[in-house]
Amino acid sequence: MISEREIMMPVLKGEIGQSNFLAGVDRPDYDEMTRCTHCGMCLQFCPTYRVLGLEADSPRGRIYQMRAVAEGRALVDEDFAEHMYVCLACRACETACPAHLHYGSLVEAARGQIEARRSQPWGERLLRFLIFAQLFPYPARIRLLAGLMRLYQISGLRAFARFLPGRLARLEPMMPTLKGDFFPARDQVYPARGVKQYRVALFNGCIMPVAFGPSNAATVKVLTENGCEVVVPSAQTCCGAIDLHAGERDLGREVARRNIQAFERLNVDAVIINAAGCGVALKEYGDLLHEDPAFVARAQAFAAKVKDVNEFLANIGFRAPTAALPMRVTYQDPCHLVHGQNIRLQPRQLLQSIPGLELVEMAGADRCCGSAGIYNITQTDLSMEILDEKMEHVRRTGATAIVSANPGCMLQMQIGCRRAGIDAQVYHVVDLLAKAYNLEQSN
Ligand code: SF4
Ligand code: SF4
Repeated sequence: MISEREIMMPVLKGEIGQSNFLAGVDRPDYDEMTRCTHCGMCLQFCPTYRVLGLEADSPRGRIYQMRAVAEGRALVDEDFAEHMYVCLACRACETACPAHLHYGSLVEAARGQIEARRSQPWGERLLRFLIFAQLFPYPARIRLLAGLMRLYQISGLRAFARFLPGRLARLEPMMPTLKGDFFPARDQVYPARGVKQYRVALFNGCIMPVAFGPSNAATVKVLTENGCEVVVPSAQTCCGAIDLHAGERDLGREVARRNIQAFERLNVDAVIINAAGCGVALKEYGDLLHEDPAFVARAQAFAAKVKDVNEFLANIGFRAPTAALPMRVTYQDPCHLVHGQNIRLQPRQLLQSIPGLELVEMAGADRCCGSAGIYNITQTDLSMEILDEKMEHVRRTGATAIVSANPGCMLQMQIGCRRAGIDAQVYHVVDLLAKAYNLEQSN
């Protein structure tokens, strides 16, 4: 355990020894780590530090540990791995940090180092191979799996879920209710309504089209309503965020190259994404491929075009709907939108433009909900503890709907409502905007 006093001690350059990070594998950027002044401004914004109260599970403590490994004073061992994986990678510390440290890329690289030297049991290795290399990069396989899950959900077998062995019984209630998928025909183009002003491409994602297919259709709707011709390239694949969060950096690079090839030929003004976690990964393709001479410039050009749908609509001066949607909603900031992309006002502007809709802010709306990719599966107890606090804030708003802009957060909010017994619907921002546009057209 690292003491508070040790954290506060400056690390002198003269102490630097042989780095314990592997050569040939991305390392956390040493210069970036040394920019941490140990000021501690990030601590109270860190969900894991708030719950666990341990310096080693704070941003400052984790950076200290990475630096100790880089300087040969500590090992990449199970203890190091635990603190790196207890982190939600929510990047709340980036927003709080006066030095604007890029913590997210540090922790992703640290996880890459952990995975590169970990000798996993073959069962775990096989599972990782199946999930990261054989499932997520293939939308058709995700669709097939989603179909099987849907069959299971409507078969009545869920009633027997409590008889599942061990951990499975605990995780089963967290299975999302799949809302119908969104897989347009090959390279489908949706024309703009009225005068075409932009040509954009939709990044369909991997979880969104199966878990929240109607939200992707709503994204197309709000874009076409606002003068966009929308193309959905069929050659696209998962953004790679799930690989990067799990330390599978080579797989992340592989899918990044596939996506760049799928989108660069389309000649679009913007690549639109409605999942905040994917948005960050896509916007960081330039960094991810910075050592690939064949792709670095293409990755930067692609990343420059990526826009979150909230960001894009606010930038182009979206049209406010005229039909009223009388409802009381609260908004949960996805970490990767508010901290990863500094997009805080735009989703609120979109919601507040809807006549009749009342937006009630919850306390700590920009605090992580505990979803964080697959964190609620890998760190279930901590994730649920963070979620339960969040749901108390939701309850106090009296809202009958929770709005967010990321599939992980939306699924976590659904779980939270079930756990807390809160009767609230969960929406993406674009669901409500599209609903209002549809209403005005049916009046
Ligand atoms: S990313 Fe989130 S959980 Fe991780 S250190 Fe930063 S604030 Fe804490
Ligand atoms: S706020 Fe930034 S500089 Fe200060 S301790 Fe946290 S990471 Fe380091």
